[in-house]
Amino acid sequence: MRAMVLEQARTPLVLRDVPTPEPAAGQLLVRVNACAVCRTDLHIVDAELTEPKLPLILGHQIVGTVEEIHVSVKGQSGSDFKVGDRVGIPWLGWTDGDCVYCRSGRENLCDRAKFTGYTIDGGYAEFAVADARYCFHLPDEYEDIDVSPLLCAGLIGYRAYRKTGDAKRLGLYGFGNAAHLVTQLAIYEKKEIYAFTRPRDESGQKEARSLGAVWAGGSDETPPEKLDAAIIFASVGPLIPAALHVMAKGGIVVCGGIHMSDIPSFPYNDLWNERVITSVANLTRRDGEEFFKIAPGVPVKTKVEVFSLHDANTALDKFRAGKLYGTAVLKVS
Ligand SMILES: [Zn+2]
Ligand SMILES: [Zn+2]
Repeated sequence: MRAMVLEQARTPLVLRDVPTPEPAAGQLLVRVNACAVCRTDLHIVDAELTEPKLPLILGHQIVGTVEEIHVSVKGQSGSDFKVGDRVGIPWLGWTDGDCVYCRSGRENLCDRAKFTGYTIDGGYAEFAVADARYCFHLPDEYEDIDVSPLLCAGLIGYRAYRKTGDAKRLGLYGFGNAAHLVTQLAIYEKKEIYAFTRPRDESGQKEARSLGAVWAGGSDETPPEKLDAAIIFASVGPLIPAALHVMAKGGIVVCGGIHMSDIPSFPYNDLWNERVITSVANLTRRDGEEFFKIAPGVPVKTKVEVFSLHDANTALDKFRAGKLYGTAVLKVS
């Protein structure tokens, strides 16, 4: 099969003809139809995430068709897939089910978790294998290309959003893919969105307002009201004290990214009064089940820019340079 392979960090992916993987116990073989590109893919290529398997096939927002099912999958709980079914494969690829985190409903924190497109091969290829228990059925309302970005930007965004509880005034820092999706869900749930873009990014602010944000400004600006919560999707540490500074008492700052630059120091007074800083790591299967139930009703709509598999480097380069107009999605077959 054809695959775009990362042979070494900080080098472009290489188009290779590699053996089609065979499903092992518990796994599905999936023909990849589409795979969206995530900022995490960039962090891996750029060596900001330092423990990938190498060589590696990137990609953890896989939409495909079940081609083959290992005999052991039959009757296994939570895996009612048939050959020909559409399937979504997310970042969380495997957990041990056995550690203190798994046994307390926090499989996203599993000590031995494996991640699609990072520690196991992902979807920048014609085929992928995946543990059936971690795969999702996807809502029929979406085309493959359009549902693909929901598998990470959507799910991580959803998990981050749920951590903000019943916050009425919600700030979003870094108005990219995940923020777009969260905005739609939050407005549907009658929240007020305050969008923070790069300073002087007027087109980004205009876009946020067109999506229904009640206020949009630069991350160096002060919104007209104190906020109840904020989610930081940009990988910029100084945004944490900036967000904390505009929180009301008890406000929650949620960091949605897997990698962030260092956080500068800030006065304790900005944290005082039960303000909280937290992060979101990975996802649980329950997040996925909940989100895919809610998404079509909102409806959460994605905006995509389609590339062919062999143009994956172009997609990554445009992403790194901030030159995409939607989520990059590789259309594989
Ligand atoms: Zn575990
Ligand atoms: Zn991702």
